[in-house]
This record gives sequence, C-alpha cells and structure tokens, in this order.
Amino acid sequence: VIRVEQAWKWFGSTDVLRGVNLTVRPRRTLVLLGPSGSGKSTLLRCVNALERLDSGLVEVEGSRVGLREAGGRLHELTEAELCRQRVRIGMVFQRFNLFPHMTALENVTLGPRRVLGLSRAQAEAEAERLLTRVGLRDKLDSYPSQLSGGQQQRVAIARALAMKPHVMLFDEPTSALDPELVGEVLDVMKDLARQGMTMIVATHEIGFAKEVADTVAMLDGGVVIESGPPGECLVAPKEERTKAFLSKVL
Ligand code: ATP
Ligand code: MG
Repeated sequence: VIRVEQAWKWFGSTDVLRGVNLTVRPRRTLVLLGPSGSGKSTLLRCVNALERLDSGLVEVEGSRVGLREAGGRLHELTEAELCRQRVRIGMVFQRFNLFPHMTALENVTLGPRRVLGLSRAQAEAEAERLLTRVGLRDKLDSYPSQLSGGQQQRVAIARALAMKPHVMLFDEPTSALDPELVGEVLDVMKDLARQGMTMIVATHEIGFAKEVADTVAMLDGGVVIESGPPGECLVAPKEERTKAFLSKVL
C-alpha cells in the first residue's frame, strides 16, 4: 500500500535520501531505525508530501504522492489536491503540535469539521469515541497545558485518526516524553497495529519494534542498509552499522 522507489532528496549539496526503496503492505507495520541525521524524518515527510522528492517516487494506495497523471503526463498537485491526499495519510510528530487554545475535544474535531465537512455533533461523537479509545475519556475538556506529554501525544494520535487515514506515519512519537510516559503512547500504537492500521514508525524503541513490526528497516546515510523481519534484523543483524546502532540504543 505504501511504496517508495529510488527516493532521492537533497538539500543544497547534501544528499539526505540516496535511493531509498521500501514497501509496506496493507495492515503491516514498518519500523524505521537509524541514527540521528540518517533521513528518517525526511523520508516520512516525503511520504506525506510535506517535502518533495527530487527523484524517485512514493505511492500510497496506488496513487503517486504529490503528483497526478493527466494526458499521459505528471502534474504537480495544487495545495487543495495535496490536502485531499494528505487526509489519507495521518502523521504524528515528536512534538505534539496541539492547538494550545483548544481543548482535547476541539483539537480532535477541528479537522473533521473543516476538511471532512462533518457537523459539530458528528465530529464530537467521533472525537469522543477516539479519545476514549486512547484512554482519555475523562480529558475531553482539558487544554493541552493541563495534560501530560503522554496524554498530549495520545490526543495527537486521536486527532490524526479522526481524519480516517488509511495509513499512519509516526516520527519518533515518544522521544520527547519522560520515560514513564512512553509506555502509554506505545500501547495505543500497538493497539492500532493490532487492529490492522498500515503504519510506518520511526522510533528508537527496540522493544516496540520487536513486538509490533512486521518489517524493520535500518536507514543510515539516506540508504536502507538492512531490512527484514525483526527476528532477523534486531536479533542477528548482518551489517556492522546496524549492530553498532543497536548496541547504542539498547
Ligand atoms: P533525527 O533522528 O535526529 O530526527 P533523522 O533521521 O530524522 O534524524 P532528518 O531530520 O531526516 O534525519 O535529517 C537528515 C539530514 O537532512 C540531516 O543532515 C539534516 O541536517 C538534513 N536536513 C533535513 N531537513 C533539512 C532542510 N529543510 N534543509 C537542509 N537540510 C535538512
Ligand atoms: Mg527525525
């Protein structure tokens, strides 16, 4: 369902992605590992069309991200078309990026009301269901400043899910959290994976990768240097750089 082929991205003279190939099948979870600066965020941003590839392609559910075909030629999407495409691709960032002046419920209902055109009542019913699902039934009316980091991140996940995405991208969703709050966010993500969401998760949480990932891809210097099932990549990595990385994060 997600296909990245020969993806290249450069900023000035720095090659950040150098020919990345990845496939995530429907209902599967890919965990993206790699040292700081290896290109994880850039890759996720390209999948979500927040950045444009310089070469190569990203496809989500058979359509090219950021481009459309017409008359045998590829055209760049307009902002409005990009918006529509992004609705299918949920993204959760390291920083929760909630609107500080809105309650949890309002944060979750905003997109569905504005973009999906739901009525207030419909959006609120759905938001309540999602906030309950992430364990925040009693925090609907709390403002972000009244919530812990883990709770804010769970609101951010509910907000992404409210758009009914077909795939979810997570960019180090727990790395800004205090250690004791990491588990509650990972649990929500495990649940999502179990329920069949298609996901790419950039994380350093190796335990999560072992338990949840169908495939692990190790990115280094903008290239996937090793990928495979967690039982191979994480337990008996072939590449020295994967071994070195794992010994640092474990
Ligand atoms: P981290 O684990 O620290 O989040 P990462 O694997 O997500 O790292 P990226 O954020 O994708 O890495 O960055 C990869 C490289 O691209 C880095 O060298 C970074 O400096 C560079 N880079 C990222 N965005 C830009 C930009 N907008 N302009 C210039 N260089 C950038
Ligand atoms: Mg990053």
